[in-house]
Amino acid sequence: MSRLSFKEIRGTEDILPEKIGVWRRMENAAREVFDLYCYEELRTPILEETGLFISGVGETSDIVTKQMFSLADRKGRSLTLRPEGTAPIIRAYLKHRIYKNPIAKIFYMGPFFRSERPQAGRERQFHQIGAEAIGCDNPSMDAEVISLLIHLLNKFGITGGRLELNSVGCSLCQGPYKEKLREYFAGEETPLCPDCQRRLNKNPLRVLDCKRPECQSLIVDAPPLPDYLCNSCSEHFQKVQAILKSLSISYHLHPYLVRGLDYYTRTAFEITHPALGSQNAVAAGGRFDNLVEKMGGELTPAVGFALGMERIILIQEKEKVTAPLETRLSVYLAPQGKEAFQEMVNLLKELRQNGIKSELDYEGKRLKNQLRLANKLNAQYVAILGEEELRRKTITLKNMDTGKQEELPIDLSDCLNFISKVLHLIPPHI
Ligand SMILES: [Zn+2]
Ligand SMILES: [Zn+2]
Repeated sequence: MSRLSFKEIRGTEDILPEKIGVWRRMENAAREVFDLYCYEELRTPILEETGLFISGVGETSDIVTKQMFSLADRKGRSLTLRPEGTAPIIRAYLKHRIYKNPIAKIFYMGPFFRSERPQAGRERQFHQIGAEAIGCDNPSMDAEVISLLIHLLNKFGITGGRLELNSVGCSLCQGPYKEKLREYFAGEETPLCPDCQRRLNKNPLRVLDCKRPECQSLIVDAPPLPDYLCNSCSEHFQKVQAILKSLSISYHLHPYLVRGLDYYTRTAFEITHPALGSQNAVAAGGRFDNLVEKMGGELTPAVGFALGMERIILIQEKEKVTAPLETRLSVYLAPQGKEAFQEMVNLLKELRQNGIKSELDYEGKRLKNQLRLANKLNAQYVAILGEEELRRKTITLKNMDTGKQEELPIDLSDCLNFISKVLHLIPPHI
């Protein structure tokens, strides 16, 4: 008989139970921080119309030209696994008219998909946490979004990142700058890579994003973008910097930072981290004042960011960040024999119903093995019920940190009260 064997698709990963705590802690911590800044969660579908990303992210972006996972549905319509979060959020914002108060502060988290060569911290199915503040053009909102991002990173135990900051201007100032760039690159003797030669015609800003060495060597002397900002973009950029300074957030100006998506205007930023090596951006974002209008809404300014969860975990591992433990197992129940097992099944139910994380040995192990397993599960207490205890109508409660043992009555409510007390919980009402 032949056996089937299936593998995960290249660039995707199973997140195993022993790893899930890291993910959940990150998600929970993010929810806590977002709540402090009054952001609310919006969950959009994984599948969207392909056109959403072409018009939202931009025809010339790498995402649209090279990286989308697209498929045809049974009627031949093109659908795409979401490669980024902002276009879907704006689609939902418009459809459900979330024009509230008057700023909509939205966060999201979940899987995204891009067809890239998989490497550490760059999977084909990857996970992002992102936020968008829609409806505010005040530079203090740019600074708030950046400070929220740094707050999140700190909450994940990550320090030592570097904030790179730029302004990519508006449609008014980008026109003359793009001309300047075309002139500059056309005048150079060494040619740009073939991709960039195409980009030069369609959207020369894209060239600044190219990582190829032949292009990089030309980019370092290109005209700096901030020199070509119009008055109002320049003023906005100055104000963002002044507010960041007043918030004691240090940043580095990076005049060629443009980000890989077409929708950015004005503020653009990235946070890089040395632990990530050459793929060193852990989070990025910026302002996108034209996207809502481009997608069919009123002209609505907005600013946001997204961070890569795989990259956060990579940094945590490399920097040996010890995040706080997941709720510890409070009690491991170790019965000896059938009668004791039945007693413990009842106690287990009471403990769990009273919010005490507990586990039972279902396999009738010997006490020595039960204690070993309890240790492995990092249990705070082991409740032992053997023949001796049954005879005396007691349970032995062993503190696994101190080794100290106590005997308590087998009565369920007494037992529960005692365990709650030693765990410093509010006494349960039963
Ligand atoms: Zn401008
Ligand atoms: Zn290039």
